[in-house]
Amino acid sequence: MAQIIDGKAIAKRIKAEVKERIAARGEPAPLVVAVEVGEDAASASYVRNQARQAERVGIHHRLDRLPADTNDEALRDHLRGLNADPAVTGIMLQTPLPRHLDLRGARALIASSKDVEAVGPLAAGALVANTHAVAPCTAQAAVLCLEDVLGDDLSGKHVVVIGRSEIVGRPLGLLLLHANATVTVCHRHTGDLSPYTRNADAVVVAVGKPGLVRGDMVRPGAVVVDVGTNWIEAEERLVGDVDFDSVEPHAAAITPVPGGVGPVTVAVLLANTLHLAEAASPASPEAAQ
Ligand code: NAD
Repeated sequence: MAQIIDGKAIAKRIKAEVKERIAARGEPAPLVVAVEVGEDAASASYVRNQARQAERVGIHHRLDRLPADTNDEALRDHLRGLNADPAVTGIMLQTPLPRHLDLRGARALIASSKDVEAVGPLAAGALVANTHAVAPCTAQAAVLCLEDVLGDDLSGKHVVVIGRSEIVGRPLGLLLLHANATVTVCHRHTGDLSPYTRNADAVVVAVGKPGLVRGDMVRPGAVVVDVGTNWIEAEERLVGDVDFDSVEPHAAAITPVPGGVGPVTVAVLLANTLHLAEAASPASPEAAQ
């Protein structure tokens, strides 16, 4: 029986600390703004959840919804306005954006001091240089899930990351390298994943394909972190990329879906907001006492 890595418990610990530090800072509370263009059901539910959790720890949350036919210039103007507004601590651009918009260009416009999801080019460069203030939330959440079982010394551990997206797999590979893990990154051109995964102390999968990682692909005693979220319409349930039933008997520890990486991701977003608020205006000495 594998240990089930309890993402909700990890998130609870992070949020308790964030709440305490925000309360100690006093007013004004940090403000995080989610910018959404058009309406997307999945994104809307994610933003509602974000807003609820932010308010619980004392972070104000606002949703700026722009019309679906917003053009690149109007979106950029809106982001420039948020960059210039001293009341705004963090800016998030919700995805997916309508196809006519330039996501990369818009992300590049978010001031790095407000890039709470670390999706812009300056944040990416800082992550390569290991000088980053905050890291992409899901990648950081996956590391925290690994550390929950392996401790914060990942030195020399062989971690196989499946997926190399700009927001999850790639930054995760860098975070793990900075933690001195030995990292193998697999992707859609890798072919057979088994020779890699069977050699791993830990496997982290972030692809978006249910059942991609099966029990026979995992070394006994490995730690398995499942970032994938796939909605199975016929069964009306969320599953990850790991075939939980066949992997769980082999693994030392495994994250469930839901209840694994997801809740930790939101908690990391709140922690990132606090970090940016602290960097922008350190708490007064009285408030820190
Ligand atoms: P993406 O589509 O941007 O990237 C998928 C990656 O998987 C690519 O790098 C691709 O090369 C790789 N890939 C595709 N098929 C593969 C295969 N057969 N074998 C190996 N690699 C393969 O996706 P993303 O944005 O990185 O998200 C990945 C998954 O994580 C999705 O299910 C997404 O919903 C989920 N996700 C979860 C959270 C969370 O908080 N839990 C956050 C972000 C994304």
